[in-house]
Amino acid sequence: MADIRDEIEAKEAEFLGPFGQQAAASQGRERPEPPDPVRTAFMVDRDRVLHSKPFRRLKHKTQVFVAPAGDHFRTRLTHTLEVAQIARTVSRALRLNEDLTEAIALAHDLGHTPFGHAGEEALHTALLQAGHTEGFRHSAQSLRVVEVLTPLNLTWETRQGIAGHSKGAADLTDLDGEPTSTLEAAVVRVSDRIAYLAHDLDDAVRSGIVQTVPKSLAALGETHGERVGRLVGDVIEHSRESPAVRFSPPVLTLANELKTWLFENVYLRYTDLDPDIVKAQNVVRALFDHYQKPDTLPPGFDGVQGAVDYVSGMTDRFAIADFQRLFVPTGLSQRLDRLA
Ligand code: MG
Repeated sequence: MADIRDEIEAKEAEFLGPFGQQAAASQGRERPEPPDPVRTAFMVDRDRVLHSKPFRRLKHKTQVFVAPAGDHFRTRLTHTLEVAQIARTVSRALRLNEDLTEAIALAHDLGHTPFGHAGEEALHTALLQAGHTEGFRHSAQSLRVVEVLTPLNLTWETRQGIAGHSKGAADLTDLDGEPTSTLEAAVVRVSDRIAYLAHDLDDAVRSGIVQTVPKSLAALGETHGERVGRLVGDVIEHSRESPAVRFSPPVLTLANELKTWLFENVYLRYTDLDPDIVKAQNVVRALFDHYQKPDTLPPGFDGVQGAVDYVSGMTDRFAIADFQRLFVPTGLSQRLDRLA
């Protein structure tokens, strides 16, 4: 059946533009293995990520708004799927490799902590206070997940894309022409921003944290769909036939304005507005402190790095259950039951 992969690779060579990463030209895997008879190397990467346990845990990890607050808020999983879908559209339009793009997109947030940005901040602060100057970076942790914790033996291109996907709170201008491993990785970075700018605004309005959106941002569209469409269309139009993935200057200005506005009105304010956020941070902090003590971690985890790996890998609900198990008394009657 190896002729099937050959055919797909031949089609790729025809379809992809000059900046697309051909699967046949991949730099290969960490540990060499025979190629799949049907799928290209990047198709294999994508499937491995999708079928992995860390991917399934994304379902019960908060994006921004703590999930039990409502069924329609984004979770890490739906965020990831939105990023993947946007990135595939951009990638196909720019004649880049859609399979590589999808593999990177599906894996890009695997290293995220429970409770979204609140959990990440709690773990980051705890690490800094313990003298670990690097703190916690979810993009580095995502790479650690697929390389060490759940080794998927992905190609170099997918791993580089996962490592380089995040620029934190940095200005979006940083994306312009910055050398990345592949343009497919650059597509995922831009698509991640398009997805979260649009859906965090949508979720912020739904949550009631904000009532009005600044008038200047109306140029991006009135609805969630219009805003995604405008941002995606602009990136495609401005990046065609070019070795960079970028917004046009006016849309970049608008996107940065929306990002600043979200920081000021949502990300920096929601801890005051939602008491669950502070509680979530306390849970992460208590678990991290606990698992740094000797002989507390399950087999396979060790030391401070083990505590980071174990706690950051938890879903929201696992973290809450574990906190209850460790710190909340179960009541005398239950203990007596067990003794009897
Ligand atoms: Mg993301």
